Amino acid sequence: MGLRIDVDTLRGTRHGVPCLFEILKSRGIRASFFFSVGPDNMGRHLWRLVRPRFLLKMIRSNAASLYGWDILLRGVFWPGPMIGEKCGEIMRQAGKDGHEVGVHAWDHHKWQAKLDRMTPMQIRTEIDLSMHGLTKILGFEPSCSASAGWRCNEAVLDIKEAYSMQYHSDCRGEGIFRPVVSGITLTPQIPVTLPTYDELIGRKGVSDANYNDVLLDQVQTGKLNVLTIHAEVEGMAKSGLFEYFLDEAAGRGITFAPLGDLLPDVASIPRGRIADAELGGRDGLVCVQAAQ
Ligand SMILES: [Zn+2]
Repeated sequence: MGLRIDVDTLRGTRHGVPCLFEILKSRGIRASFFFSVGPDNMGRHLWRLVRPRFLLKMIRSNAASLYGWDILLRGVFWPGPMIGEKCGEIMRQAGKDGHEVGVHAWDHHKWQAKLDRMTPMQIRTEIDLSMHGLTKILGFEPSCSASAGWRCNEAVLDIKEAYSMQYHSDCRGEGIFRPVVSGITLTPQIPVTLPTYDELIGRKGVSDANYNDVLLDQVQTGKLNVLTIHAEVEGMAKSGLFEYFLDEAAGRGITFAPLGDLLPDVASIPRGRIADAELGGRDGLVCVQAAQ
């Protein structure tokens, strides 16, 4: 199973990531960390409370206990702090511990909320800031990226080609593919195949008591399995649950790897394309793998 860790906030970087380092190290597991580098404006999500579906989700997942009020309010009343400036050492430690390190976002909130309305120039600026920011912190260019909130489009894919990266993980889907945009075959995509905690919990009878079993039952032998966890969730309030998950997975013979380790020979990767779709348990549209 490919294990991907999305880091969206200052709090998640500072507290969730070091906790995950310990959890993974004690089990000899390597994973892929995707960092948000610029301002933490995630509190602006509160404005989405006016949207009823998001409000339902906040109640269902008990967002305040999950994320903490300081995250929910961040960026609403004061400008968000720059995560990369404050947590560069933690980001470098991920690499030193043998994990794969990639770019998640510059301004996670802005990307998730406004991508549809951004011009190609504005998209390029966000990508350039995140790439240059993380390169400066790490001392080398990251080899992979994962768009925030699975918000992505063909313009994003096209702009990312300016960087020679090994792969991107911008969508939900079933198998590794190379998207074709304007007749050109681009860098491989490694889609996320499994649901996230906030998508599963509180729906169809799923609670913390049966969450790990429900998730593990969705693992498919002989196929691509990629799980995304969040430093803000599995690295903090749900770290105990995540430790049980890893141990239960080990009991079922499942091993974990950074996403890059799952890449086959590029010539053997099928072509495909991306599209937007609704996803159960998630507000708004997300980028998905579509048939070519
Ligand atoms: Zn994210």
